[in-house]
Amino acid sequence: MLKIGITGGIGSGKTTVCRMFEILGIPVFYADDVAKSIMHTDEELKWGIVQTFGAGAYSNAGELNRKYLADIVFQDHAALEKLNALVHPAVFRAFDHWALKQNHAPYILKEAALLFESGSYRMCNYSILVKAPEALKIQRIMQRDQVSADAVKLRMDKQLTDEKKEHFADFTIINDEKQLLMPQVLALHEQFLSMNPLSA
Ligand code: ATP
Repeated sequence: MLKIGITGGIGSGKTTVCRMFEILGIPVFYADDVAKSIMHTDEELKWGIVQTFGAGAYSNAGELNRKYLADIVFQDHAALEKLNALVHPAVFRAFDHWALKQNHAPYILKEAALLFESGSYRMCNYSILVKAPEALKIQRIMQRDQVSADAVKLRMDKQLTDEKKEHFADFTIINDEKQLLMPQVLALHEQFLSMNPLSA
């Protein structure tokens, strides 16, 4: 089955685009949401986090101590890389498990903010980059999350620039609120359907 990765900078509108693919009946795996939930449920991952960051990472009841972990990784880039090195393989496992159950679908999407940075695009047949002008992305996130422009820029600085991401992407969707999104989504949908041997 065709696996398509989809990414974009913060506020680019990748989730908005994914919802459109879902309307067309395409299953979407939201890697960032899964990454959060498996920190509570994946025993192998939990064990790795405790070994690396100490028993304080979980409460006695087994609940993730998000603040404890955030305080460590936000100040220390090496610690963040260690956490990513634990979480990313666990998300890959969850994706493989989920993908096996989607055999009714002509193709599937994997939405991930760090699709290229984590290397997970290599497990996809193609990748889509959702792009938007920086000022618009900042404005959207300020409005959505009620945060300052500086706070958004801080988050943006942790991601690859669109120029770098474009180097890896096979397809691009422009979400600049001038070009309509749905026709771009439909054009890609038709293209992916035509690549699926079962639909020929
Ligand atoms: P993040 O990386 O933070 O999860 P994202 O790339 O998934 O962001 P979305 O959550 O899809 O982005 O969009 C960010 C905000 O911008 C949302 O509030 C969404 O409703 C709005 N938005 C996205 N695209 C458009 C559009 N074309 N027109 C109007 N609003 C939009």
